[in-house]
Amino acid sequence: MTDESLETPSETLDKADAPPEKPAKAAKPVKVEPLVYALYRVSRCHGCDRKLEKGEIVRLEQGLEEQRAFCSKCAGIEGLEILPSGNAKITRLVKKYSQKCFIVMRWSEVWKTYERQGLYVEPEAIAQARSELAKPTATAKVSGKDSK
Ligand SMILES: [Zn+2]
Repeated sequence: MTDESLETPSETLDKADAPPEKPAKAAKPVKVEPLVYALYRVSRCHGCDRKLEKGEIVRLEQGLEEQRAFCSKCAGIEGLEILPSGNAKITRLVKKYSQKCFIVMRWSEVWKTYERQGLYVEPEAIAQARSELAKPTATAKVSGKDSK
């Protein structure tokens, strides 16, 4: 009886210079926009005691006993504009251009819950996105025309 030694191919393929680890380039952090609320009833700013009108954009903070509303000035979100949701193209562009971006929630009497109304963003970003979308091709280069 002869032992047939099986020639097992040794692992010659292991590369010494194999990269030890992959750079995690796909790990893009999911950006979640903070929420602001369109008031559905007259309220008062917890910060400056100013009367807040219905429909005004506020930030809500959960206090010990009640929700506190802060006007846009106190919340530091003054001068922003609502971009109604519904147009995915402009929404995407505005998100790209606006330094500040909040999601506007509005109380729905019908559903008895808050529903998304749109974005609360910089007016310049909306203007920029609109002008870009108005162009025949999105890749058209702007020839250094600054309207400032
Ligand atoms: Zn205030």
